[in-house]
Amino acid sequence: AATKETRGFQTEAKRLLHLMIHSLYSNREIFLRELISNASDAIDKLRFAVVQDASLAEGVGDYRIQISVDADAKTVTVEDNGIGMTRDEVIENLGTIAKSGTAAFVDQLSGDEKKDSQLIGQFGVGFYSSFIVADRVEVLTRKAGTSVEEATHWESEGEDEFVIDTANRDAPGTTITLHLKSDADEFANDFRVRSVIKKYSDHISVPVMMPKAVDAAGAEDEEEAAPAAPEWEAVNEAKAMWTRSRSELSDEDYKAFYQHVSHDYDEPLTWSHNRVEGKLEYTSLLYIPRNPPFDLWNREGARGLKLYVQRTFIMDDAEQFLPLYLRFVKGVLDSNDLPLNVSREILQQNPSVDSMKSALTKRVLDVLQKMSTKNPEQYQQFWNTFGQVLKEGPAEDFGNREKITKLLRFASSHTDDPSQTVSVEDYIGRMKEGQEAIYYVAADNHVTAKNSPHLEVFRKKGIEVLLLSDRVDEWLMSHLMEFEGKAFKDVARGQLDLDDGDEIEKKELEEAKEQSQGLVERMQSVLADRVTEVRPTVRLTDSPACLVVGEQDMGAQMRRILEAAGQ
Ligand code: ADP
Ligand code: MG
Repeated sequence: AATKETRGFQTEAKRLLHLMIHSLYSNREIFLRELISNASDAIDKLRFAVVQDASLAEGVGDYRIQISVDADAKTVTVEDNGIGMTRDEVIENLGTIAKSGTAAFVDQLSGDEKKDSQLIGQFGVGFYSSFIVADRVEVLTRKAGTSVEEATHWESEGEDEFVIDTANRDAPGTTITLHLKSDADEFANDFRVRSVIKKYSDHISVPVMMPKAVDAAGAEDEEEAAPAAPEWEAVNEAKAMWTRSRSELSDEDYKAFYQHVSHDYDEPLTWSHNRVEGKLEYTSLLYIPRNPPFDLWNREGARGLKLYVQRTFIMDDAEQFLPLYLRFVKGVLDSNDLPLNVSREILQQNPSVDSMKSALTKRVLDVLQKMSTKNPEQYQQFWNTFGQVLKEGPAEDFGNREKITKLLRFASSHTDDPSQTVSVEDYIGRMKEGQEAIYYVAADNHVTAKNSPHLEVFRKKGIEVLLLSDRVDEWLMSHLMEFEGKAFKDVARGQLDLDDGDEIEKKELEEAKEQSQGLVERMQSVLADRVTEVRPTVRLTDSPACLVVGEQDMGAQMRRILEAAGQ
């Protein structure tokens, strides 16, 4: 097979590269964060592989990332001694966009450079960001476990194609050299690069090193210094952030680490950092994001925590530790109880996983509960973003139904406003004396719910009704039986004349029955195929008639959803 070949980028990759090259001018330093993050991932992967096969560590030495600049050649070089890539992996990883999210990425571009550049990391198109600052990029990589001659050299100017060739590399790992554009030569400056590393990489658990500055006026012997190999020093803190104690960490540390685990470059709403000792030993650092990820509603979307075992990275997106209805939570779990060679299959059977899952679930629900009382405005922001996901909770997690119910927010006839701000506790606090149920109406949209004829009698009597119009609402309500002894009741269901001992109303109803007997019989026979019963009511004040669903029947909204799904 030919060793040297020229290949075109996949179409989507081309689009992306075009964007990198032509549209992203602000916040250009992020390319370095992306390359460091890839180098750190590659080291994590090698560390993990060495657990299975110790021979892979031969000749590797201490794990580190080395970054150097050459002001004359206008280059910046990022080198790691991580897992490296085979030729095929280079073609796959640096020639295409393997992830389905990228189309979504391109769709979400706003034209606002700052926002767009924040999207880069979130969509995992990190490597290509090299072309924001470079007009030529070279990669020299060798996969751990392959020989010196089996290394691969990749080179591209970004626009259409790349050249790939077989090469030599002494040790496994990857070196990436960026030939900087003339307007980006600030990144060939040692001081500038150091400050970017400090900013983004303190929490990265491997040292990110740069050559020690040679003090021209100092003791270094200049004649001797020139040919000698540089002495390297760590620029970052290089300590896995979650292993440090809370008192040592600032909000800024937490926020920076959030960006690292979530690829969301906005700040999180809040976080919870805990070390648990006892029967199980683990550390968790959980974040509630401010923004939804693009794949929140995608069944295959990424979810779960970054899993470490005794500080060794095991996997991204370990989804076994949180229920689906908390899939917006980001963070890290570091366990001392799981084996280092743990796999997704093992996770599914391990009993300590269940214990951690229920503890972490409680932790998240408590964080949300606390936010809702201490910082209602922030909670409202959370609810507006993730409320629909949380509404899946009562169906999925029977045991925590009470806690989840407290966290729910609804629109209500109290204000008639479409925004979901009313909690069940607010509702109960406003209940009429003697009122036993929590009433709600569900419809396709807020306006229909608000104008439902079923509400007329409730309005007349000043009884509040929750107005539900999210798709998930009827599903939710079918799992909410009661809260603090008050039953949830659909106003459009069954014999709902308010049995509040209103004597006048009872009399009215008797009269209505007598007066309308003939009419009711006639309607009953005309509609015989379509309704079970026609009956007079005093529930309506303005509308002449309304449809009611039987106590045991499926709700109208649910029926429409199932019909739409072809059932
Ligand atoms: P992401 O990191 O989100 O996967 P990137 O575009 O940053 O996306 O990188 C694409 C892929 O290229 C990575 O998933 C990894 O497989 C490979 N890769 C990038 N940099 C390195 C590196 N320094 N060492 C080994 N593999 C790398
Ligand atoms: Mg990356």
